[in-house]
Amino acid sequence: MPASHPKSLSIVIPMYKEAENAQLMVERIHQGLADYNAPWEVICVDDGSPDGTLKALQNAQKTFGQHVRIIELQRNFGQTAAMQAGIDAARGNLIATLDGDLQNDPNDIPRMVDELIERDLDLLQGWRKNRQDAAIKRKLPSRIANKLIARITGVKLHDYGCSLKIYRANVLKQVRLFGEMHRFIPVWVAGVTAPHRIGETVVTHHARQFGESKYGISRTFRVIIDLLSVFFFLRYKARPGHFFGSIGLFTGALGGLLMTWLLAVKFIFGEDIGHRPMLSVAILMLVMALQFITTGVVAEMLTRIFFQNNKGKNFVVRNICEPEEGQSWQNY
Ligand code: UDP
Ligand code: MG
Repeated sequence: MPASHPKSLSIVIPMYKEAENAQLMVERIHQGLADYNAPWEVICVDDGSPDGTLKALQNAQKTFGQHVRIIELQRNFGQTAAMQAGIDAARGNLIATLDGDLQNDPNDIPRMVDELIERDLDLLQGWRKNRQDAAIKRKLPSRIANKLIARITGVKLHDYGCSLKIYRANVLKQVRLFGEMHRFIPVWVAGVTAPHRIGETVVTHHARQFGESKYGISRTFRVIIDLLSVFFFLRYKARPGHFFGSIGLFTGALGGLLMTWLLAVKFIFGEDIGHRPMLSVAILMLVMALQFITTGVVAEMLTRIFFQNNKGKNFVVRNICEPEEGQSWQNY
């Protein structure tokens, strides 16, 4: 039953290998939300952790009870999918997301909710102005990515990657997340709301104390691919065919010219074109690249359609563990 209170809030936390953080996280949420004057729930999604995260969450639920809901995924589906699982289960009019590693500070949430309502936003993005992560490995790539995304998409934010965000649920639920798309949520949200309804606010950020970051250089590559996809969808979503059609025509013309030249070399100048194998290789590679790009875009379009029409589930839930008495939510 969705609560009718305009400030009813669902806090979604994806967790993978956060056994050491889980209980403390739930405790901090309760401290941060102690004076929250509307119904709220925290939805912890265990993303197939092998390290006892689920057990820790169940203990936390025993201790804190009624506000805590646990979604157990069948295996590790990744942060984006875990977030989507939590969002699907959210009953609040507002949804907050944050990381389960205590790097975001739950104390920021009530203030952010007030700010979102005050500024009449659909999304309030946290901005880790004092980010406590490795400079070269994490902060620098993020900086470049943020600049790129802002430029490409026209959604001007400083820190897309900050998980701490507050949304209006009805708007967020119009977006389906997949891949590593949690990094670009504001961009997708911008697709369903006006730019002036997306804002940002500076938030606290702590260094990771327990456990370790799941992201290394290998994920950076996937992010680049996702960034490309974001780019193509924003630029060419109406007529992607036109763009690739033009490339096709251009390459075709080029190929035609090359072929004419080769034929001329053979029949007019009487030389043997078998002496230019590199040429064939070059053409072959060009054509192959084109094929790959085109196929990639088509696949990307299909993926998008698949997930966007709400049926494509990129995760499987094993179990939902509700608190014994769901009282506080209904009877507030
Ligand atoms: N996470 C997840 N599934 C994964 C990887 C990460 O649910 O496959 C969660 C993780 O537990 C954390 C959040 O996503 O709550 C962000 O992950 P992490 O702290 O490793 O990323 P970083 O802060 O280093 O970007
Ligand atoms: Mg983290």
